Amino acid sequence: MKIFGIGRNYAEHIKELGNERPEEPVIFLKPDTALLRNGTPFYYPSFSQDVHHEVEIVIRICREGKNIEEKFAHKYYDQLGIGIDFTARDLQTKAKQKGLPWTIAKGFNGSAPISDMLPVSDFENLHNIQFSLEVNGEKRQSGNTSHMIYSFDYIIAYLSKFFTLKKGDLIYTGTPEGVGPVKVGDRLSASIENKTLLDFEVK
Ligand code: MG
Repeated sequence: MKIFGIGRNYAEHIKELGNERPEEPVIFLKPDTALLRNGTPFYYPSFSQDVHHEVEIVIRICREGKNIEEKFAHKYYDQLGIGIDFTARDLQTKAKQKGLPWTIAKGFNGSAPISDMLPVSDFENLHNIQFSLEVNGEKRQSGNTSHMIYSFDYIIAYLSKFFTLKKGDLIYTGTPEGVGPVKVGDRLSASIENKTLLDFEVK
C-alpha cells in the first residue's frame, strides 16, 4: 500500500511558505509506518524542533489502474477522510535548501494520522467540501476543496502516469493556509463539514 502526498495544492498555503506555484503537482511518498489510526497519540520526535500540522483531505483508491484518463479518474476512488500531513519543517527547510529529498521530513513514524473513511457518495459536491483543524479547541486551519489547484481527478490521472495505483492506496491532497507548529500536550481535532472525524493528542 502506498501513501502519496501532494505539496503546494492551495494558493494561500504556497504564499505563506514563500514557495513557487508548481507547473505540475508536487509529489512525495510516506511509508505505511507513518499512519496513525483510531486517534492514536502522536509522539513528538526527538530529531525535530519544528513539527508542523497540515490538515488535508485524504482519498482512498478502490481499484487498480495506470495511465488513467482524467475523465475516468472518479471511478478509482470511493472513500475520503481527513488526515494530518505532519512535517518536520526544520528538516524540510534544510533539505529544500540543498535540493535534497523530503523523505525524512515527511515520512517519519506517525507523520500521517488519518480518520475513518467515508463513502464519497456521502458528498453532494466533491469540489465544495469544507474541512478544518482545531488545536486545543482553537481553529488553526480551514479549507475548502474548491480552492485546490489540482482536483482529485487530475491528481489521480497525473500520479497514474508514473505509478500503478492499487486498491487501498491513500492520497493526502494538500493543505490550505494556517500551518504551524504543534507541541507536546496539544490536542488536534480535524473535521469535515463541521463533523469531527479525527481527534488525538501530541505526547
Ligand atoms: Mg501537506
